[in-house]
Amino acid sequence: MFWSKKVHGEKLLKCPRGHGYMRKLKKENVLIDVCEVCGGMWLDDGELQKLNALAKKKFTKAKKAKKVKKKSKSKKVKR
Ligand SMILES: [Zn+2]
Repeated sequence: MFWSKKVHGEKLLKCPRGHGYMRKLKKENVLIDVCEVCGGMWLDDGELQKLNALAKKKFTKAKKAKKVKKKSKSKKVKR
């Protein structure tokens, strides 16, 4: 990803919408990037799968055919 850079060993991502670097946020042991300007959440490859796996565990009952897209709002994963 061309918009990423490393700071203190951490990879920072820029908001794809051009709002500058995003804040790291930890949800369920998964590090996500949050843009405070547009409120968008972005995940690395791996991280998305981790969140999906967690979401599946939590919502086994709600088996509606809702696909989790890349920038889904993960408000359900509260901690
Ligand atoms: Zn943004």
